[in-house]
Amino acid sequence: MVLQGFFSKGRGVKEDPAVSVFREYIRLKTVHPEPDYDGALKFLGRISEELGLPMKKIEVCPGRVVAIMTWTGTNPSLKSVLLNSHTDVVPVYQEQWKYDAFAAVKDAEGNIYGRGTQDMKCVTIQYIEAIRRLKAAGKRFPRTIHLTFVPDEEVGGHKGMESFINHPEFKKLNVGFALDEGLANPTEAFTVFYGERNPWWITIRCPGSPGHGSRFVENTAAEKLRRIINSFLAFREREKQRLDTSECFTLGDVTTVNMTMVHGGVAYNVIPAEMDVSFDLRIPPTVDLQEFEEQIKAWCAEAGEGITYEFAQKFMQQNTTSTEDNNPWWKAFSSTCKALNMTLEKEIFPAATDSRFIRAVGLPAIGFSPMNRTPILLHDHNEFLNEEVFLRGITVYERLLPVLTAVPAQSGEE
Ligand SMILES: [Zn+2]
Repeated sequence: MVLQGFFSKGRGVKEDPAVSVFREYIRLKTVHPEPDYDGALKFLGRISEELGLPMKKIEVCPGRVVAIMTWTGTNPSLKSVLLNSHTDVVPVYQEQWKYDAFAAVKDAEGNIYGRGTQDMKCVTIQYIEAIRRLKAAGKRFPRTIHLTFVPDEEVGGHKGMESFINHPEFKKLNVGFALDEGLANPTEAFTVFYGERNPWWITIRCPGSPGHGSRFVENTAAEKLRRIINSFLAFREREKQRLDTSECFTLGDVTTVNMTMVHGGVAYNVIPAEMDVSFDLRIPPTVDLQEFEEQIKAWCAEAGEGITYEFAQKFMQQNTTSTEDNNPWWKAFSSTCKALNMTLEKEIFPAATDSRFIRAVGLPAIGFSPMNRTPILLHDHNEFLNEEVFLRGITVYERLLPVLTAVPAQSGEE
């Protein structure tokens, strides 16, 4: 670390102020289980003053505030462009990190280390710095831009975006199109996400005849449990095969199945009256969900009598955002990227983000974090982003926003 400091001083290059703001934001410990949301709001309040943009704070749940910064367009009756980002980050295993995960250390190569450098404090500051540049250049645009800064995405969004999307203040934003987070891409290309898989968390309860552990009791819970596990894991294998054998498939195109919990039993010599197994399923938007649940029912029926299931989470949202060239929002987004010589890879997001709540109310949303040539390290140890990649991302938004906010009025607008 002494050496790193020496190098960065030795380079004698003054840091771009946008990078300094980014590093300052990384140092705010908005980390679960007790994120410093007050610190984040204070920071954003200062930014709103610097930018000269009003900031509204909406408490969507006790202690959970959504901040909204607004740059009003010259034609504010048109639908707005929403730039969404979450302020929270996931916990770290500090002993696995090269540096303090909240120190925002920059090494000699310009790699900035810290929790949230990829997910998604980079995007938050890129939005802000792009707007700072556009404002400084005296620009005005027809459509209004709203920046929303939401809490609790990393714990499911229930007290964050899910509550906000049903709040009257969200409707007032009159959103026409939204940008939200994506993922890094290790190649030259940038990944954009137009849909998400639906998470289903299911527990299957297998009742059986209890008895003494010394006998061949009929109809045991364990025999049913084994058949259930076999059915789910055989399906898992088939899906894995589909992914492995198709060149054009990514994780977002197949259903993943993972057995994540098993419960049951009281003693070595007592055959239990029930055993339970839980699975984490992620289902792509192309799957017929009714049919899929029928399949689960069939597996339960085949495995024996009395088997029941319940969902801890069951998302049924299959809206995807158009990436057809005749869609004006997609056209604006993709043509700008093309003009910047960026290659886009369109994918279904393999996990879940706040975009699913935005798409669920019928709004188009693109998941995009402009990070190419960057390993995917979200939620991982030593999460980092190179400052050059970060700075280039600001330029990308600086070019995107004038085009998105100038998308002509669509039918039903004005
Ligand atoms: Zn995220």
